[in-house]
Amino acid sequence: MVKKRLLSVIIPMYNEEDNICPLFDRLFPVLQGLDMPFEVICINDGSTDKTLEILESELKRRSGLVIVNLARNFGQHAAVMAGFSRARGDWLITMDADLQNPPEEIPKLVEQFENGHDLIGTIREGRQDSRFRKIASRITNRLVARISGISLHDFGCMLRGYSREVVKGILENPEYRTFIPALATFFARNPIEIYVRHEERAGGSSKYSLLKLFGLQLDLMTGFSMWPLRILFFVGLFMALFGMVAAVVIIGLRLYYGPGWAAEGVFTLFAALFFLVGCQFFALGLLGEYIGRIFQAVRKRPTFILEWVKSS
Ligand code: UDP
Ligand code: MG
Repeated sequence: MVKKRLLSVIIPMYNEEDNICPLFDRLFPVLQGLDMPFEVICINDGSTDKTLEILESELKRRSGLVIVNLARNFGQHAAVMAGFSRARGDWLITMDADLQNPPEEIPKLVEQFENGHDLIGTIREGRQDSRFRKIASRITNRLVARISGISLHDFGCMLRGYSREVVKGILENPEYRTFIPALATFFARNPIEIYVRHEERAGGSSKYSLLKLFGLQLDLMTGFSMWPLRILFFVGLFMALFGMVAAVVIIGLRLYYGPGWAAEGVFTLFAALFFLVGCQFFALGLLGEYIGRIFQAVRKRPTFILEWVKSS
């Protein structure tokens, strides 16, 4: 008889007290119906509400539940990494705790694993988020795909499947700040994207502010491409050429019209100067981003700090 594969479901949780019970009530029956061994790994990402308490009380009621408790809030992707580090499954599925990813879609992912795919991306069908979030993510999906050369249609959907080999690759390259769906494509041999349903957040509120979303985009851009740096180089080159031409023109005009003209040229000069200074600041900021990340990388700080693990 062929050994049955172990399925690990990884769920990061940050202040999700209202969602745990409804989630488990839907998730466990789906997993039990799959006819394969499974474990559900819930990572408590430093919640300040009753998330941990509720999880611990569920330990007694459900078999196959693992709680990974982090020392404080490290963010969704660090929490998923913590989950990966503890998961024993051959096939791993990540999902959100807020029921935006319906657990009923899990069998679809398992089917793709059975078809031999090692990375299963998902595209949200009928996405239930604000119009602003939808437009913003459409733009960033395109932009990021273009810049990073990673062709994913929906970077944002966390209901995804990863084979053991892909997760091994991710764990062996622990980057301090990373974006797991994008990093995973690097290690995949036979990826596929499928459509999954998307629902409204069941309870609580989104943990992502505009600033955090922006940070995520920066992680994606700087983490997977050198394009911004290259653009910087070309802009710099262009500015230098432009400056040189302008200088020659100004000196020529000064020689032709005499010193009287030069005083009136002060304002144009200022304009050019401001423009240049602006460009320099922009460039410095961008360089700073990269240097900051290099600093974080060489420091080799852990992505997360584990407090304890309990399982039923
Ligand atoms: N999450 C987390 N740590 C954080 C922020 C979020 O573990 O610092 C979890 C959260 O509990 C949820 C998932 O990541 O399970 C997605 O978060 P959310 O639903 O707020 O994101 P959105 O759907 O708005 O993109
Ligand atoms: Mg959500």
